[in-house]
Amino acid sequence: MAVKQLYPTKPLECWGKLEELRRRLVRDTYTAKERGELVVLGGPGPLPSLLCGLGGFQLLSPMPIGPDMKDLRLLTRMNELATTQGYSNDCCATLRIALGSMLMGRFGMNKRTGEILKPDIHFESLACQGQMKAQQLYQEYFFEIPSFVVELPWQEEPRPADVQYLEDQLHEAVDWLINTTGRKFDDRLLAEGWVNEWRSRVYFTRIMEYLATIPAPLDQKTLASFATLVWRGSLHLPEVRDFYKEAMDEVGDRVRRGIAALATERCRLFHEGPVPWYPSNVLRYFNRYGAVCIGSWLYFTEFGNFNVKDDGSWDVCPMPEEMGLPLNTRDDILHSMAVVFATYNPRPELSARIDHRVRMARHFKVDGAVFALDRGCLGNTCGAMESMVALKEAGIPVTSYQGACANPSELGQEEIVSRIDTFMESLGLKALGPGRPLVEVEAAE
Ligand code: SF4
Repeated sequence: MAVKQLYPTKPLECWGKLEELRRRLVRDTYTAKERGELVVLGGPGPLPSLLCGLGGFQLLSPMPIGPDMKDLRLLTRMNELATTQGYSNDCCATLRIALGSMLMGRFGMNKRTGEILKPDIHFESLACQGQMKAQQLYQEYFFEIPSFVVELPWQEEPRPADVQYLEDQLHEAVDWLINTTGRKFDDRLLAEGWVNEWRSRVYFTRIMEYLATIPAPLDQKTLASFATLVWRGSLHLPEVRDFYKEAMDEVGDRVRRGIAALATERCRLFHEGPVPWYPSNVLRYFNRYGAVCIGSWLYFTEFGNFNVKDDGSWDVCPMPEEMGLPLNTRDDILHSMAVVFATYNPRPELSARIDHRVRMARHFKVDGAVFALDRGCLGNTCGAMESMVALKEAGIPVTSYQGACANPSELGQEEIVSRIDTFMESLGLKALGPGRPLVEVEAAE
């Protein structure tokens, strides 16, 4: 029997541009030295734009990407090697595969040519507790490379001193960049890069806000694809800013016209915790029940700049011209960076995330939440159990499974499928069609 389609749907028009941007970023990274650009190890955290004052630079992500992520045997081997060095399954997943990749001599490898790209400096801003340990590791294994880490204010509640704390570090960071690289630092380029990053973040936040609409105009899997530009530390680029603006306009248009990510949407879910970074169907497995995963506290706070209001809606960071902060001097620019990240960034408030999840679940009209409890992602698993209790107390059904975002040998497919199926049936939903296996690429031994 044909499955009843409840909403119109259509592919995203901006998808091709996203693919092209992702290809370009990889190409530009591996040709950086040809153009005399600085190669910087780092990037997934906020403020890549701090580096813009140096002129040309490319970021080499600490997270192995591309073909390495599709080779599950290789990924498993990287994890095993990390374990031999004392970094077991309960250490940060990024750290483990980065270490495994270093020990295999693959870190920074151009998979097309086999050449190794060596970073000139290591520069990072921390958006997660797990990253902090990883920084020590890079300093140990890349000991010949100068290293600087900016720490965002990790506080239970925002405090007036946070702005000054961050601002002082940003000044130190700029001095360090100048002294370490011996390059000139152009404040005009810094301002341009920062305003681009600021705008990119606000556009992306608005895109995520649209997901509160029924039917959801995008699903969480697509959100993750959009976020690859965040993870590649490219928000400062004008073409990335333009992509997010175009994507925001297109998603807004889908909302106005009632175009859905899933034509059969009858159930909306938050999927909390990291999904596998290697290709998987986890987020779309739910589609067989007419259920769409639309986001999570994890994704929203990692990519967006906002505050959560009492009703779960967002107070989105204003655009630069709306904020009204001067951007004329280096002091002005660094001050505005500190204000934005100390004011519109709920991620570091560890205890508040529990209440935020409940409020957002209501505002985004979810029918349930699924938690991937990943021992290898302390940054996101922290507070998960308390959040599950709080959601249940608020009448929002919850299930969980044990995840392993970067270690395929730990992903128990059958058990996860069985837990999801049971949960969906408990929500009163029947499967509309067959489900695809969670992982379809070559299985790990
Ligand atoms: S988010 Fe998870 S995987 Fe990423 S740095 Fe934090 S702990 Fe590690």
